[in-house]
Amino acid sequence: MIKNIVTAFDQIATANADQVAYDEMGKHTTYGQLKTAADSLAAWLDQQSLPEHSPVLVFGDHQVEMIASFMAALKTGHSYIPVSSDSALPRIQSILDTGKPSLILAIDPFPSDQLTVTVPVIAKEQLATVIADAQPLTSEHPVSGNDLAYVLFTSGTTGSPKGVEVSHDNLLTFIDWMLGADFNLPQRANYLGQPPYSFDLSNMFLYPALMSGSTVKAIPHAVVENFGQLFTALPKLDLNVFVGTPSFVDMLMLSPAFNEQQMPGLTHFLFCGEELTVKTAKNLHQRFPHAHIFNTYGPTEATVAVSGVEITPEILANSDRLPVGYAKPGIELSIWNGDQQLTTPGQQGEIIIAGDSVAQGYMNNPQKTAQAFFTLNGQHAYRTGDAGILDEDGLLHHKGRMDFQIKLHGFRIELDEVRASLEKSPLIKQAVALPKYNRDGKVAHLIAAVIPKETTDSENDRTQKIRESLKDLIMPYMMPTQFVYRESFPMSANGKIAVKQMIKEVNQ
Ligand code: AMP
Repeated sequence: MIKNIVTAFDQIATANADQVAYDEMGKHTTYGQLKTAADSLAAWLDQQSLPEHSPVLVFGDHQVEMIASFMAALKTGHSYIPVSSDSALPRIQSILDTGKPSLILAIDPFPSDQLTVTVPVIAKEQLATVIADAQPLTSEHPVSGNDLAYVLFTSGTTGSPKGVEVSHDNLLTFIDWMLGADFNLPQRANYLGQPPYSFDLSNMFLYPALMSGSTVKAIPHAVVENFGQLFTALPKLDLNVFVGTPSFVDMLMLSPAFNEQQMPGLTHFLFCGEELTVKTAKNLHQRFPHAHIFNTYGPTEATVAVSGVEITPEILANSDRLPVGYAKPGIELSIWNGDQQLTTPGQQGEIIIAGDSVAQGYMNNPQKTAQAFFTLNGQHAYRTGDAGILDEDGLLHHKGRMDFQIKLHGFRIELDEVRASLEKSPLIKQAVALPKYNRDGKVAHLIAAVIPKETTDSENDRTQKIRESLKDLIMPYMMPTQFVYRESFPMSANGKIAVKQMIKEVNQ
């Protein structure tokens, strides 16, 4: 078990100095080089007289300097705020105003001239000089215990983003769980490094890789956006562990070459962030019949993921919707009814997470912190806003966002359940259910946004055939009254289907 993330990194880096830690589309950095870079940057940070424990903002994409910066911050007792360089200006300004970093490390050009910035911005060239200096780090004072490790700003589409404060020990317990027997990840493996560092899912590849002497195969944003480049690059990466959203794997499966024959080393798939549908898991199982597929669940506020389960062929064959797992050690999951009382197994309500993964709160936002974080049976707890059911044996089933529950003609309907039913049709590749509101703000009817399998029919004929195919697959009161067809769905910056945006569009 790891005791301190920085000390563990140093030990692993020293023992595996020549092993590649980071491979950025062929640009290799060994563990030895990464440690030297992090130490030199940390020694320089120490000379800047920054306020103790103040956060450092790190701005960039998937460059190895991002990792050197994260480690340098942790080594000097600072937390880091990772911000993607494709972030919108209002988001960056809001992060600056709320996060109050003491310094900005700009691995990509920082748009200072379009923002109100009151702290030093260290540009790529200066960073390169500091790293090239290879200064040794003489005084060690790394983050530990409840010191913050990172502050991650949520990607909410409304209001200002909230900065989730994740401590060293929050992160440590997550890493220990990931590297333990529940997942049994291969040793010295190649991990796909695709989720942006501003999305907490990135911690599911970054830290398990670094804390096990493995290699991150990082894919920059521009390559992810370019299918041709992405599909050419993937089979050459010799991947062992996939970490990503189900939407991302759906995209990869557009390439016929994404299969076990072409990528025989790819044995582990770790999903989090949105529903892993039966359809996606079945397709993936067909492509990689021998791989281990894990569904994990958790919000940023509880440090990446707090439950997980292997989706075996038996579970796949017997589930309408896939479970999201058993609680990780140190976590207690419970379900609240509408009166905020704990329910008995099998009853649906709001998922409550209590224990050692629950973050400290929202940075500089006591009001929002008090609304979502509380104490349950003496443990730090968080209200997820997710609907769920716990089985007798502690298996959690996610039932969608509470704010995606609607009332239609008196029936309570979960949009994700409609979507899951729609996707049972053999004529539908992917679907999203969208409520159409009337002038009084009540749901008038449901719209199915569908990516169809076949596009040769007229839309009318297609809709008729799809309705026919759904007859025994969907409860009549959940059947959408309108079908609209799309070639693809919009994605959020975190690689999830942008459902809120789609709801807004159909209601404009
Ligand atoms: P984020 O904080 O961006 O990671 O988003 C967390 C939210 O994503 C959760 O509160 C859930 O609504 C959703 N989510 C995460 N994992 C899953 C999963 N395995 N299945 C369904 N929804 C998920």
